[in-house]
Amino acid sequence: MKLCLGFESTAHTIGVSVVSFDGVVLSNERKLFTTSSGGLIPVKVAEHHCSHVFDLVSSSLSKAGVSISDISLIAFSQSPGIGHCLRIGAIAARSLAALHGLPLVGVNHCIAHLEIGRLLGKKVSSDGFSSDVSCSDPILLYASGANTQVIGFEGGKYRVFGETLDIGIGNFLDSFARSLDLGFPGGPKVEVLARKGSSLIDLPYSVKGMDVSFAGLVTKLSQLAVKGCSHEDLCFSAQEYVFAMIIEVAERALAHTGKSELVLGGGVACNKRLQEMAFKMCEDRGASCFIVDNEFNVDNAAMIAWTGILQFSAGDSLSLVNSGILPYVRTDDIEVSWR
Ligand code: AMP
Ligand code: MG
Repeated sequence: MKLCLGFESTAHTIGVSVVSFDGVVLSNERKLFTTSSGGLIPVKVAEHHCSHVFDLVSSSLSKAGVSISDISLIAFSQSPGIGHCLRIGAIAARSLAALHGLPLVGVNHCIAHLEIGRLLGKKVSSDGFSSDVSCSDPILLYASGANTQVIGFEGGKYRVFGETLDIGIGNFLDSFARSLDLGFPGGPKVEVLARKGSSLIDLPYSVKGMDVSFAGLVTKLSQLAVKGCSHEDLCFSAQEYVFAMIIEVAERALAHTGKSELVLGGGVACNKRLQEMAFKMCEDRGASCFIVDNEFNVDNAAMIAWTGILQFSAGDSLSLVNSGILPYVRTDDIEVSWR
């Protein structure tokens, strides 16, 4: 059985995973940088990743029941992300590839979210999940910390049909949570408070063509919090507004491309209210909604390993000199050899 060792380190998460070439995830280890107050400082996050990366390699190999000599391929997240963080995963991956004479593949993180959705997405139905239906050519609603994009495969590339014009939806939730002193990551804490909220507060709804904007909302919500609005109602309303905005754009991407599958990806896709709204939208238009388990929604190395396998099987690989990180490369810059 051929195996890939994958590394993820685009932002707050350092992850190492072993995936087989036939798509079985044998291990998926990760450590998340967290704070009880304040946000991400890139140098601090890089130190965190540095101090965990080799323990994660050991635990990932041992959970998979294999050793480094069983590995046939190394994949790492090469783009896009925070330079300080990307560099740690890249150094570990490049060092192991050089030391063990293994081929190396660089993966685009956003595309990896879509590819893991195609591999592991479970179709949602009104009474749970139907496991026998697989996801083949979806629109990805990628809702994560730094990224918010609606992506689909058209004309030989992964195209961005809509995206945030400023901050990612997760960064929006985290900044808003920080203004309420909830710490990082804030999205899950906002979700818990939102369940206790009930009255919908009027907020700006910013969909511009196929794009969305969140930055002004942080200011508006902080002002309302200072004025004494209930935190529960603010969390409830914030979720209703921003999730409606991204679902609207995802729906228009489905309509425009004629595709009939939606898959959710990114840490914010763990949110039950977003999942519910996505399912409802798909149900209303006769499309299928796919969701992956939370460990594959958040940043994870299994999706990097799997996309690395797809790329390598189609002939992609990197020489060490060409394997530098590419923090600013966009989804639609990537040449797709494997579809
Ligand atoms: P990622 O960058 O894809 O790993 O996602 C991290 C982001 O997901 C952070 O901004 C988190 O606050 C957010 N997040 C994680 N879980 C949830 C949740 N249940 N609801 C909303 N946001 C979440
Ligand atoms: Mg991500």
